[in-house]
Amino acid sequence: MRIVLLGAPGSGKGTQAQRLLARFGVPQISTGDLLRSAVGRGTPLGLRAKAAMDAGALVADQIVVGIIRERLGGADAATGYVLDGFPRNLAQAEALAAMLAAIGQPLDAVVLFNVDYAEIARRISGRRTCPNCGTIFNVHDHATPGITHCTKCAAAPALTQRPDDNEQTVTRRLAVYDEQTRPLIEHYRAQGLLRTVDAQGSVDEVTARLISVLTRKPAAARKPARQARPKRPRKAPAKAPVESKARRKSARKKARVERKAAPARKSAPRTTHKARSKGKRKVVRKKPVRKVVRKPARKPARKPVRKRARRR
Ligand SMILES: [Zn+2]
Repeated sequence: MRIVLLGAPGSGKGTQAQRLLARFGVPQISTGDLLRSAVGRGTPLGLRAKAAMDAGALVADQIVVGIIRERLGGADAATGYVLDGFPRNLAQAEALAAMLAAIGQPLDAVVLFNVDYAEIARRISGRRTCPNCGTIFNVHDHATPGITHCTKCAAAPALTQRPDDNEQTVTRRLAVYDEQTRPLIEHYRAQGLLRTVDAQGSVDEVTARLISVLTRKPAAARKPARQARPKRPRKAPAKAPVESKARRKSARKKARVERKAAPARKSAPRTTHKARSKGKRKVVRKKPVRKVVRKPARKPARKPVRKRARRR
């Protein structure tokens, strides 16, 4: 299972990635965690990332892509992974696609976390992380109201708040998301990879929706069908005459066959058409039936006339 979690900062991607790790055993690959780790280990890419971060700049795509490439080569990522926070823009998405195409392991799905921006502001400001095990909690979560210490670590260390997890910076981060990451929604929808999850509600509710969307494959195929439906009533009047012509032809054949086989059965074709027709199409379908009765009567009359003319 190779999936990307897509959504605004604070839409719950990180928390749900942890749930997917527990459910499917696939590692969560978070750009933020990788960058911090690479910086900490002092790898060549980490040193370049640190220089950018120290200067208060965004880490260049090239560095982020390099770090992701290294991580995807890890043994635990062989059976799959959940990418959280990557790709962040179209350039990164294209780099990822090229990277995966080269090893013949394309993405299985991209899940969009749909959440209201006001809800995001509330969530981000309530987010707390355990400095020891990395578990993310939220003081606004129904299960952990006002939580201050980790419930997973034996030592129960005090939870910390990321410096950029405050409402003042949320607006700026959402603007960056709108501009750089949002275009990925259409990008992946066009590739038929996009699944959408309503990311509002409790963590458990979202997890249930997420798992349902990931285990039910036709979800992506259904969406375009829904969008196409409203167009049908518009097209129907234009197509109807063509269809009825074709139907008239086949109906004529039927009528001929039926007359030869059983001339008395006039009611038979009517009941079939009545049974088939539904709602609006009733009118369109009934007309050809009437003509069917007339036309076969004319045809045998014309043909002998032509044949006589040719003989002369
Ligand atoms: Zn902990």
